Amino acid sequence: ITNKTVAIIGAGASGLTAIKCCLDEGLQPTCYERSEDIGGLWRFCENDIEGQASIYKSLTINTSKEMMCYSDFSIPEDYPNYMHNSKVMEYFRMYAKHFDLLRYIHFKSRVCSVRRHPDFHINGQWEVVAEIYGKQEAAIFDAVLVCTGHHVDAYFPLNSFPGVKKFKGELMHSREYKHSEKFQDQRVLVIGLGNSGADISVDLSHVTKQIFLSTRTGTWVVNRVCDDGYPLDVVHFTRFKNFLRHLLPAALVNLWGEKKLNSRFNHENYGIKPQHRFLTRYPIAADDLPNAIIAGRVIIKPNIKEFTERGVIFEDGSSEENIDVVIFATGYSYSFPFIEEGVIKTNGNHIPLYKFVFPPHLKRPTLAIIGLLQPLGAIMPISELQARWATRVFKGLIKLPSEDMMMADIAKKFQYNNKRYVPSQHISLQVQYVDHMDELASLSGVKPNLLNLWLTDPRLAWEVFFGPCSPMQFRLSGPGKWEGARNAILTQEKELSGLQKHEPCNHALAAVSLSIFMKVFGCFALFAVILAYL
Ligand code: NAP
Repeated sequence: ITNKTVAIIGAGASGLTAIKCCLDEGLQPTCYERSEDIGGLWRFCENDIEGQASIYKSLTINTSKEMMCYSDFSIPEDYPNYMHNSKVMEYFRMYAKHFDLLRYIHFKSRVCSVRRHPDFHINGQWEVVAEIYGKQEAAIFDAVLVCTGHHVDAYFPLNSFPGVKKFKGELMHSREYKHSEKFQDQRVLVIGLGNSGADISVDLSHVTKQIFLSTRTGTWVVNRVCDDGYPLDVVHFTRFKNFLRHLLPAALVNLWGEKKLNSRFNHENYGIKPQHRFLTRYPIAADDLPNAIIAGRVIIKPNIKEFTERGVIFEDGSSEENIDVVIFATGYSYSFPFIEEGVIKTNGNHIPLYKFVFPPHLKRPTLAIIGLLQPLGAIMPISELQARWATRVFKGLIKLPSEDMMMADIAKKFQYNNKRYVPSQHISLQVQYVDHMDELASLSGVKPNLLNLWLTDPRLAWEVFFGPCSPMQFRLSGPGKWEGARNAILTQEKELSGLQKHEPCNHALAAVSLSIFMKVFGCFALFAVILAYL
């Protein structure tokens, strides 16, 4: 069972934890990383390097440290709740050092091909060819974990914009954007109101003459800073609220969500009211965007009708001339050109993978894709749980269902997403954090048993149910159990309070959840009383 070799492609947020999971399971990892360092997307570089993900200098993560950490390695107490990319990198370096992961990574090693071994149907092995310092080397592995992410290939839909060829200004994609300085006193148009479009517009708006932000669909905007100053995901990603979300009609949750977001700023008045309902598309986290709009630094515009030589005409008939630069913050597409044809069958932007991890038609389940999803929530703990599951599948400790059953599960998820969400580029990759973590955890036997917890450890059960559904919850029992998990869960609230320079106040967070609990059940009770009197 052990001594199996595993090739890991990429040493970013998913690749690092994949190495660790292999080691935990007694597998022998070899990680190929095309750059000279770890961190993937999170490592800021002054230049945009082809084939590598690229971020801007000011990027601050939009998931809190409580929810984005790996499940057995907390982020230090004195780190901010929402970390700048440099702090995220520091955390990755600490993780790699603590678990001694660097020794398994070959840097400057670009994987050129991953092909099935001629005896794949018997041994499930793969031949991996990598270019290491300019020289191609082949090696055979028992399994492969692909951890290359999906924010590398720019989606740059120039052809969708009439007249773009005659535009004389600069056209660039958001992945090329690094700093604001070079745009001093310019008139810049940003296309696309995703997280990149919003962040870059606000960043630039402090130095440019004017920013125009064009959106074709609008969006709901959430704040990183939520009720009582707690991080948004800490407040909302609890088992209790997830339970309520499933219990209550979507129309009610939509009303509640939209009312709450509009009470901070009226999305219609700010020109970004989406055509879709709150639950049917992920919101963006852009705390500073309304400030920039109300201060006139950012002017919201509708979709572009056509480009002129020096500007653009928008669909509402308005136009702007003397535009110096247009930044396409239009997102990313993804592909796996190094994997042998037929291993991953793509269907447009939909890649059918069992639980977003395993190609269902392979005779041997020895190749897994890690981190290829779009969660509403942090991706790092999901990648970690995927890798924990995949490594146990590689070892033969967990069996996958038949190809038909896997295909049926994939189709069900695809249909669910198509029904629930409005069309978007990555609709097939969308998952809900708590539901998806629980699903993966059930497959690996690490989902917390709430009933058992209520009976044996009610204090912990309370935190697990009403408190943030932090990654440590998946280290309480089962394979990979971590002795520090209980304490980490019970002290997370104290740490949160401490960081905000408050006196630690016990159960404040759970109290926020409980107050909602009381309100909802109060409503039910009132409703029942009214019915009884009718
Ligand atoms: P994205 O989320 O895919 O958003 C792309 C935007 O471009 C969408 O608003 C889309 O508009 C628009 N768009 C696409 N094609 C268009 C077209 N032909 N015409 C007009 N508009 C078009 O991409 P992203 O903002 O680069 O984000 C990528 C990922 O990185 C996301 O997961 C995001 O959450 C993450 N991210 C995180 C942070 C952070 O943590 N601080 C910052 C940036 C990005 P429609 O809505 O109309 O389709």
